[in-house]
Amino acid sequence: MAVPKRRTSKTRKNLRRTHKKLHIPNMVECENCGEYTKSHHVCKSCGHYNGKEVVEK
Ligand SMILES: [Zn+2]
Repeated sequence: MAVPKRRTSKTRKNLRRTHKKLHIPNMVECENCGEYTKSHHVCKSCGHYNGKEVVEK
């Protein structure tokens, strides 16, 4: 089995992980109520999607 010759330095380790971070999901304002919802998802507060009510309260 291949074994690393050198220990990975703190800098190398941290540089590798610069892309690994939490990200905020794509949030858009609802057309109907202005509440922030995930894009391509039905609005949780009013049940609207694409300008139409698709889920009743
Ligand atoms: Zn809404």
